[in-house]
Amino acid sequence: MSTRYLSKLQLDAELNKCLNCKASPCMHACPVKCSPKEFIEAAKAKDYASAIQTIVHNNPLGHTCGLICPEHFCVKACMRAKIDNPINIPLVQATLVKMFREKNHLSDIFEANGKKIAIVGAGPAGLAAAWQLLQLGYEIKIFEQSSAVGGALNLIPDERLPHAAIEDDWDDIRQMGQADIVYDCKIDNPLELLDEYDGVIMAVGEQNMIQLGIKGEEYITPYTEYLRYPHRFMNKQKVVIVGGGNVAADCATTAHNLGAKEVTMLVRRQLNHLRIDKKELLNLLDKGINIMPNTRLTAVKKADDVLRFKTCSTYIEEGQCLDIKGSDVERGEVDLIIKAIGSVADKPVQNEKIIYAGDCKIGGSTVVEAIASGIDAAKIIHSRLI
Ligand SMILES: Cc1cc2nc3c(=O)[nH]c(=O)nc-3n(C[C@H](O)[C@H](O)[C@H](O)COP(=O)(O)OP(=O)(O)OC[C@H]3O[C@@H](n4cnc5c(N)ncnc54)[C@H](O)[C@@H]3O)c2cc1C
Ligand code: SF4
Repeated sequence: MSTRYLSKLQLDAELNKCLNCKASPCMHACPVKCSPKEFIEAAKAKDYASAIQTIVHNNPLGHTCGLICPEHFCVKACMRAKIDNPINIPLVQATLVKMFREKNHLSDIFEANGKKIAIVGAGPAGLAAAWQLLQLGYEIKIFEQSSAVGGALNLIPDERLPHAAIEDDWDDIRQMGQADIVYDCKIDNPLELLDEYDGVIMAVGEQNMIQLGIKGEEYITPYTEYLRYPHRFMNKQKVVIVGGGNVAADCATTAHNLGAKEVTMLVRRQLNHLRIDKKELLNLLDKGINIMPNTRLTAVKKADDVLRFKTCSTYIEEGQCLDIKGSDVERGEVDLIIKAIGSVADKPVQNEKIIYAGDCKIGGSTVVEAIASGIDAAKIIHSRLI
């Protein structure tokens, strides 16, 4: 099996670290209340079928989450950290699913209730809503503007999240009932879907990139373009990335892997405010990626395919990030500047049969929070249709 997962020996070592805490802090910390204690105990007893049931009955994207869930949920809650190191719960989860998931663990078919729901967006929130609604007997049609399932997950480099993991999770969901995806189909007006469907779930993510509002912004490449078509940027030797979260880290490692000689992340806030796990930070440092905290990009200029840029230093006061006056610095020449900061969603359409879910509702989040939101949205629409 790929080194992305634990070996059988490593898996057993992680399982044996579990203290079987009565209070199950790991479960309470998980946004979808998947119970690591339960699946770990079952796996320890070699009852892998029960372990898998616990995962897949709580989380429709158990494989995907296991590979990319951040540490601040179940891992942070793990009591084992008080003795030595927390259990690597996400990777235990991914490894169990990868090693032991079989189709017969999952293919429960639920009785049809005769109602149809349209879901707009095939990202984690849309897929989770589909999973919940199929269990309630709805017929589901997902409309996806791109040609792949997974939404923003498709921008995550393969070395962190292989697309096959998302496909496997989706395969299990659609076997639960009447579910279909229409690809390359953008929905402009969700109200029109109500002519044919009993309800609509809008799980469209955040589609509009935040503007920095600086001079020369037009010369900056959005992360969506960079991560979707990395090979278009093969010959870029000096790369600057604006941002300090997972998206920025993925851009930095991609640039490094494409052979860039110098990769620098400009982070407005302090180093301890980086929105990435410690292991991801170590990975960046291992790759020789420069991280410049307390630094804001203030202007970009372009001449003969070369970019020049200016920055200023920042400080934090009462939680606000402010510029230090007179700290502007003109920086050297670079080949590419990538914007890897947040995005925002369009204004929602108000209608009681249209429910919003995932990043477009809760703001830029994590895969497991988007899933929890998709499940909630499904329950809300069900409560309005019965
Ligand atoms: C590079 C990157 C790295 C990340 N790393 C992590 C990580 O390590 N851990 C983690 O937990 N999270 C990570 N995330 C965040 C995670 O991917 C998102 O929180 C999650 O995908 C949000 O799910 P969603 O379903 O709400 O929206 P999305 O995943 O954005 O899905 C929305 C879907 O709706 C479709 N759509 C939009 N408008 C329309 C329309 N009008 N008609 C039809 N279809 C439409 C889009 O094409 C898309 O497929 C990362 C995100 C990115 C971009
Ligand atoms: S879904 Fe994510 S947060 Fe929840 S238990 Fe699994 S790895 Fe932890």
